[in-house]
Amino acid sequence: MSRDKRVVIDPHLCEGHALCLETAPSVFDLPEDDVATCVAQPSGDSWQLVYAAIDACPRGAISITVD
Ligand code: SF4
Repeated sequence: MSRDKRVVIDPHLCEGHALCLETAPSVFDLPEDDVATCVAQPSGDSWQLVYAAIDACPRGAISITVD
């Protein structure tokens, strides 16, 4: 059985710094309410950018879950 890896943003931690969006614009977006959104299951090539965005986020708001 394959396990699904997903990107999750904690809306209570996110402060809209947009560093995730700058790091991985194909995965993250920042709507007007200043809480980032993301593609939950990006393509394989994008995961390296997701890990960079996790490192870049000053709030530790981005995490990965595995179903
Ligand atoms: S870098 Fe972190 S705090 Fe900033 S918008 Fe992205 S998830 Fe939110």
